[in-house]
Amino acid sequence: MLSIGIKGMASKMNLYEMAVKQLENVARLIDLEPWILEILKKPKREIIVHLPVRMDNGEVKVFTGYRVHHNDARGPFKGGIRYHPNVNLNVVRALAMWMTWKTALMNLPYGGAKGGITCNPKEMSQGEIERLTRRYTYAIREFIGTYMDIPAPDVNTNPQIMAWIADTYSILSGRWEPGVVTAKPIEIGGSEGRTEATGLGVMITAREAVKKLGINQKDVTVAVQGYGNVGYYAAYFAHQWGYKVVAVSDIKGGIYNPDGLNPEKVMEHVRKTGSVVGYPGAKQITNEELLELDVTILVPAAIEGVITEKNAPNMEAKIISEGANSPATLEADKILFEKGVLTIPDILANAGGVTCSYFEWIQAITRDWWTKEEVFRRLEHKMVSTFEDVYKLHKERNVDMRTAAYMIAVPRVAKAMKIRGLWP
Ligand code: NAD
Repeated sequence: MLSIGIKGMASKMNLYEMAVKQLENVARLIDLEPWILEILKKPKREIIVHLPVRMDNGEVKVFTGYRVHHNDARGPFKGGIRYHPNVNLNVVRALAMWMTWKTALMNLPYGGAKGGITCNPKEMSQGEIERLTRRYTYAIREFIGTYMDIPAPDVNTNPQIMAWIADTYSILSGRWEPGVVTAKPIEIGGSEGRTEATGLGVMITAREAVKKLGINQKDVTVAVQGYGNVGYYAAYFAHQWGYKVVAVSDIKGGIYNPDGLNPEKVMEHVRKTGSVVGYPGAKQITNEELLELDVTILVPAAIEGVITEKNAPNMEAKIISEGANSPATLEADKILFEKGVLTIPDILANAGGVTCSYFEWIQAITRDWWTKEEVFRRLEHKMVSTFEDVYKLHKERNVDMRTAAYMIAVPRVAKAMKIRGLWP
């Protein structure tokens, strides 16, 4: 079986080098013209901004923010904004490139971008986060816009932060611009279903994989790492569909009950205590143990790089649906393919979020609001049909699902670049 993860020494690579390696490996399989490859290896534009913010204690702190535009051959740039201490240029570059493939795979009329600020919002007040967000929006205002670049949330950013971005941008533009960001609160032009969309998409693709493997839907067990927006809704829909959610975790640890957990009750516990840990009637496990559980579906929905060459040999899940971006290293990828694990790659599994963001953008531009049923109907159709395309190519060409997804996405971008041509 061919895999774009076969070559390379991923564990020593930074995320951007890993993203370039994946692109180079798929370029060989699809005979990508060298000039297109050279362009795609680098982002179109990288913006670095330094942001002075007055903290609550009166001191001024200067934060560093990024916005990277990878490619816009197929439409305006699109991608989230991350607030995290580990944010740096290479992380943002990699995430921006992956957004180009994700929007192309889902056939959304967008390119790829990502942004971030190196900060720890867990140690900041709401006022400090608001001032930082508004200053960042001001600093990148010339590079975002409804038809230019449309940010969205990522790790540690949320609808309230999107509202501050939309408000700041609109004040500076002199008119209300709800199309400038997605995943806004519904009251100011957000879409029904956007909050659930990523987790729902993760589970729709996993459900399709269960069907393909001929596993009885009644026998499905699920483990979810990360109990935030993506992880919670993945667990919620799994439970709704009658799957047994046997384990969930967050940064503080995991819980396990072979008879199944009720995700809504677990969330009530999280709201009260701040963690899934200590949930009554469940055994405490570590995040490492959760990843190695013998389950039908494993959903890594926390951070990148948690599945490595160290734990991949011990993993027993039949299907991995990648809620997080890049949860597996290239070496781990290879080991899992050889073991026959069906991995639904991040650019497919977690694409429900950007797909619903696209629905929100259409609604914001047209001011025509859809019901949640309508949003879910369209999301279901997009996720299932794209899963089918990727699965078909994976079978036809005897390549893993990630390679198949790239073999669909990269040529779409290349074709758009060729048709538009190189100017001057
Ligand atoms: P979130 O901040 O809402 O939740 C993250 C969860 O992961 C929390 O429960 C946190 O405690 C846990 N976590 C953090 N570090 C951990 C660690 N080292 N070990 C175990 N658990 C840990 O974030 P989210 O929006 O749910 O995003 C999760 C992942 O999904 C990220 O990789 C993000 O890029 C990706 N993603 C999110 C969306 C979206 O729409 N939210 C869309 C596409 C991809």
